[in-house]
Amino acid sequence: MISIIGGGLAGVEAAWAAAESGCEVTLYEMRPLEMTGAHKTEFLAELVCSNSFKSKSPTSPAGQLKWEMAKLGSLVLDCAFHHEVPGGEALAIDRNEFAAEVTKKIESHPKIKLERRVVNPEELEEMLSKGPVILSTGPLTTKNLAAWLANVTGAENLYFYDAVSPTVDGSTIDQSVAFAQSRYDKGGDDYLNCPFDKESYELFVSELVNAERALPHGVQAEEETLEKIKYFAGCTPIEAIAEKGARSLAFGNFKPVGLTDPRTGRRPYAALQLRPENKDKTLYSLVACQNRLKWNEQKRVFRLVPGLESAEFVRFGVIHRNTYLQSPTALTSQLEFQKKPNLYAAGQITGVEGYVESAAMGILAGYFAVAKVRQKPLPDLPRESALGSLISHLQDDTPREFAPMNINWGLFPRNGIKDKGASRSQMLSDAKEALTNWITQSGIPSKPEN
Ligand SMILES: Cc1cc2nc3c(=O)[nH]c(=O)nc-3n(C[C@H](O)[C@H](O)[C@H](O)COP(=O)(O)OP(=O)(O)OC[C@H]3O[C@@H](n4cnc5c(N)ncnc54)[C@H](O)[C@@H]3O)c2cc1C
Repeated sequence: MISIIGGGLAGVEAAWAAAESGCEVTLYEMRPLEMTGAHKTEFLAELVCSNSFKSKSPTSPAGQLKWEMAKLGSLVLDCAFHHEVPGGEALAIDRNEFAAEVTKKIESHPKIKLERRVVNPEELEEMLSKGPVILSTGPLTTKNLAAWLANVTGAENLYFYDAVSPTVDGSTIDQSVAFAQSRYDKGGDDYLNCPFDKESYELFVSELVNAERALPHGVQAEEETLEKIKYFAGCTPIEAIAEKGARSLAFGNFKPVGLTDPRTGRRPYAALQLRPENKDKTLYSLVACQNRLKWNEQKRVFRLVPGLESAEFVRFGVIHRNTYLQSPTALTSQLEFQKKPNLYAAGQITGVEGYVESAAMGILAGYFAVAKVRQKPLPDLPRESALGSLISHLQDDTPREFAPMNINWGLFPRNGIKDKGASRSQMLSDAKEALTNWITQSGIPSKPEN
C-alpha cells in the first residue's frame, strides 16, 4: 500500500502512476476541510495562479519535459490537452474543467482511495509503518507538517520561503564585458562581475525603482509572510533598497570593492556579481537581486546591466512563501528522504518550480515508490533527459543558496557543439533516446506518442 499526502499536481500524478502499475493507493487531501492561502476550490490538481503549462513546442525544454511525461503516462497532461484553450505556443487550459476531470479520474480509479483530511505528523509516522509514503503537500504545506519535516531533515534542510534572484543561461552572458574575478583576487574566479560606469548605473537604478511590480501571490498571507521574511532574513527586495538613495546599491548589493575591471584597469563605479548555480557553470544567478518586479520588467531592467544585454532568463526573482527541501542534502536521486527511508517527496517541495515540473516529480515519485514495494529498484534517470536534468539540479551540491528551478536549457548537459541551434537540437534527440532506453530498462509500460 502506498500513501500519498497532498492531492495537488504532484500527488495526483504519483497516485495515478502507482495505481496504473497495479498498487493500492490512498491519497489524502485536506481541502475543503482546510484551505491553503492560495487554493480556492475542492478540486484535486487545482491551478493556484496562471492557467498556463508553458510551451508545448517540441523544440523547447518545456516541450521536451512534456514529451517525457506523456511517455510515462501523465494524467495531468492528458487532462490538460482535453481542456486546452487558445494560448499560442503555450499549453493554456480551462482550469476548472481540467481540475474537475482529474478529480473524477482519481475518484473513479479502482486502485485509488481518496480521503479528505488534514494529515498530521503522527498519522504520517503511522502510515510509514505500513509502506512507502509520498509527501506532495506543496509550497503551502501545513505548518505542523513543515515543522516535522524540519525536525526530520534538519532545520538547515528546509526552506519556508523563496527569496531568490534571477538566474540566467551562462552562454548568453557577454563575457567580453563581464569579467571573472573574486574580490581582491581571493577565492578563485568563480564569480563573474558586470561592471557599471556612472551613466549605466544611474540608468539602471532609475528604471529599477520605476519598474512595474508584481501583485503579491496568495495576497494577504503572502504579505504577512513577506514582512516576517524581511525581518528575519534581511532579504529586502532590491528595488526597495534602490529607493533609499541613488547610491545605496553602489554602497551595498553592488559595491565594487576589491574588483578591477581588466578593460579599464580601474575599479568600476558599481558591479553586479554573478554566481555559478551548478558545477558545469552553465547557469548563473544575479547575486543579491531578489525582487518583486513583474517578469517582463525583470527582463527589461536587468538587461540594462552591462554584460547582460542579451541574457536569457531561466528563472525570475521572487519573494514569496514556499516550503521546499534543500534536496541535495535531504533527498536521494530517487526522491527518497536520506534520513527517512520509505518516505518520498514529490512536487514543488522537492525544489523544482512550476506546475509541469511539480507534476513530473509526482510521476517519478510514484514509480520509485512502486519499485520499493516490489523490491525491484529502478535505474537512475539518465542525465541527458529533461527529467534527469531536473533530478541533477536536485542533486547538485555546488555550494550556493539552493533555489527551486524550472526546466531550461542550462540544466541539460552541454554536448560540446558550438552552434547553439545544432547543440540544442542534439540535446533534444539525446534526451529522447536516453529516456526511451530508461523506460525499457525499467520495465515501465511506455505510452504511445501523440
Ligand atoms: C501562490 C502560488 C502561485 C503559483 N503560481 C504558479 C504559476 O502561475 N505557474 C506555475 O507554473 N507555478 C506556480 N506556482 C508554483 C507551483 O507550480 C504550484 O504551487 C504547484 O501547484 C505545485 O504543485 P504541488 O503538487 O507540489 O503542490 P500543490 O498543487 O499546492 O498541492 C499540494 C496539496 O497538498 C495539500 N496539503 C497540504 N498540506 C496538507 C496536509 N497536511 N494534509 C493533507 N493535504 C495537504 C494542499 O491542499 C494541496 O492540495 C505557484 C505557487 C504558489 C504558492
